[in-house]
Parts: sequence; structure tokens; C-alpha cells
Amino acid sequence: MIIFHMYKISVSKELFKDIQLKKLKVLEKSTSSYWKRELLEPKIVNDKIKYSIKQIDKIKITNGLGEEKPQMIIECEKIDYSFKKDLFEFYLGRIIEQKNSDLDENYKDTLIQELLRERALLEDNMNRDHLTGVYNRRKMENDLSMFINQNNKDLLTAIFIDADRFKSINDNFGHDTGDKALTYLAKKIEKYAGFLNGEVYRYGGEEFLILCFLPRYEIESKLNEMKEEIKAHKIYHPKQDVSLTVSIGVSFFSDCKTKDEMLKRADKAVYQAKEQGRDTIIYS
Ligand code: GH3
Ligand code: MG
Ligand code: MG
Repeated sequence: MIIFHMYKISVSKELFKDIQLKKLKVLEKSTSSYWKRELLEPKIVNDKIKYSIKQIDKIKITNGLGEEKPQMIIECEKIDYSFKKDLFEFYLGRIIEQKNSDLDENYKDTLIQELLRERALLEDNMNRDHLTGVYNRRKMENDLSMFINQNNKDLLTAIFIDADRFKSINDNFGHDTGDKALTYLAKKIEKYAGFLNGEVYRYGGEEFLILCFLPRYEIESKLNEMKEEIKAHKIYHPKQDVSLTVSIGVSFFSDCKTKDEMLKRADKAVYQAKEQGRDTIIYS
């Protein structure tokens, strides 16, 4: 007869749930004399006693005592000992089986939802610019490829927005104020992207892009409003309040053969706006 010995570890309700939801990878147990006796195996090496840690591949985790209490059998990848904390560390793996847990039925759903939420969060993070919080260029490339295949692609419009003489804001007021100005600008553009039925992306340093779906006549009045609102706002600086203007270039997908052509035309329109003295909107 094979006698299979499996360690039983009782943990708090919170800990039990964390293990169940895979939030906890390593379970720590203080080195009580019980655990020392159970886990340390003495060996005689060169006339000296050395201890090694006994390894097991499964442990039973319970919340409370008694068979009707929640319990699970979980893979144990490794048992280690931390000298620093004087603790045994159980590295937890896959949950093999569980009983009496209120999450029993919904356990898989909960786990999947948790994973999906984490993945969505991660994905969103990868799509955003860290300074301003708006979408980044990577997301723009993905969205644009999708947009040009949509039924409403004939309304697709690219709006390039480049801050005017931004270098001088950094030079005169410092990089931090420059960052603040960019964050402010992004928020303002985000608000208008909403009105324009579109999304905003940080395209480069002080350059933003709106991709939106709206007829041209509606875009024109909204963009004028945005340009004036950006100009009117003052960003606080102890030396002198800072104001900002933008040059805007607009192109329409219906005039173009490819998405690259649309972006190129909007970019060229910004260049023309700069040539015409900045604080200007040019439609290509
Ligand atoms: P123009 O009107 O011709 O667009 O002039 P400009 O100074 O805005 O253009 P230029 O391309 O010469 O300079 C852009 C400046 O934007 C230079 C760079 O230091 C600044 N910039 C880019 N990214 C950031 C950022 O994340 N934070 C800050 N503070 N500045 C940035
Ligand atoms: Mg620029
Ligand atoms: Mg600029």
C-alpha cells in the first residue's frame, strides 16, 4: 500500500480567495517547530549534519478545520526557505481540485473575468501615451487600418494639430511647464474629438492627430472653436502665464487613395499653416 502524505495548510478566508484567484504565488509559513520537523531532512555529510528541504508536489489548502470547510488541492512547484524572513515559502502552481468553496460554481467564470480584465488593462496601457493619457501612435496605426474598411469611411477625416513654437515654451519656462502645456492641450483636443465623433492620438512630441467621422461643414466650425479655446486659455507659471496656439491641417479620406496619402496631405497642410504665420487651419 502506498501511503501518500499531503500537507494541509490552513489559511484565512482572504488568503484562500487570493490563492483561488491566483493573486498569490508564494504562500509563506513561519518556521514553527512543526514545519521544521516536517520539512527539514537531516543528512550526514562529512560527519556534519546538513539539512535539506523536503519537496512535495501537492498541498491541501483549507480555510478552517473540518471536511465541510472550503479546501483546495494545489500543485506545489517548490518549497524554499527564506533566511531573511525565517519563513518557509510554498510556490503555488495549478489548482487541481476544490471543494465547498462559495466560488466553486463560478470559479472559472471569476478567473476568466479577472484575466480578461487584466489583459484589457494591459492592452489599454500599451495603447496610451504616458504623459497625456491619450492614445499613442501604435493605437492610431491599428485604428486607422480598421477605419478605412468601415462603411462610413467616406466621412473619415484626419486632423493634424501641431503646437506653435513649442520649443520656446520649454526654453523660456522649463520642461515641466512644457509637459503641463502638453497635458492641457491633449485634454482640450480630447474634448473636441468627442464633439467631432472621433479619437485623439499623440502622434509625436507636440503633435496630435484626430481621426473622426463627420461631414466637413460640421468639422469646420468645431475646429475654429477649438483653436480659439486653446489660444484663450492661460497655463499658470510664476514668471508669467503661458499661452499657446496651434496650427492645424485637415485632410479627407474621400479625396485620397490610401491612408498614407491622407496623413501626408494633413501633414502638408500643417506645414502650410506654419508658413502662413501659424495659429491657422488649412484644409487640403
Ligand atoms: P513650430 O511652430 O514650427 O512647430 O515650432 P516648434 O518649436 O513647436 O517645433 P519644433 O519641432 O522645432 O520643436 C518641438 C519641440 O517640442 C521640441 C521639443 O523639445 C518639444 N517637445 C516634444 N516632446 C515634448 C515633451 O514630451 N515634453 C516637453 N516639455 N517638450 C516636448
Ligand atoms: Mg512638430
Ligand atoms: Mg510645433
